[in-house]
Amino acid sequence: MPEEAEFRPTGESPLKYNEKFVNTTCPKCGGPAKRETDTIDGFLCSCWYFLRYCSPHDSKAPFDPKQMKYWMPVDIYTGGAEHAVMHLLYARFFTKAIRDMGLIDFGEPFKSSLTRALSSPTTRK
Ligand SMILES: [Zn+2]
Repeated sequence: MPEEAEFRPTGESPLKYNEKFVNTTCPKCGGPAKRETDTIDGFLCSCWYFLRYCSPHDSKAPFDPKQMKYWMPVDIYTGGAEHAVMHLLYARFFTKAIRDMGLIDFGEPFKSSLTRALSSPTTRK
């Protein structure tokens, strides 16, 4: 991945504006080709940040298994409806995947969850 990235307020990947990254040659025919720039969903990092919180100063690994045993799983997960149907699903999926890779020994990252009701500005008094 390129080191330089120009972030624009478009919501698009900054890779899209990196011509050196985008323009390449096709590995099959050798002709001009373009790379995919929408490489990682925005939820990827939020799928496992809570694991990093268990050992934030570890510079050798994403998380320390000993600290993981002490801090995980999280006692209660709180979030709005968007979290209950999206982030929670991704975080649980990611946890199960890295458990299957043998990096952790649990498959559920949160013991319980509490979903807040959403309120919109039009319903506030
Ligand atoms: Zn080709």
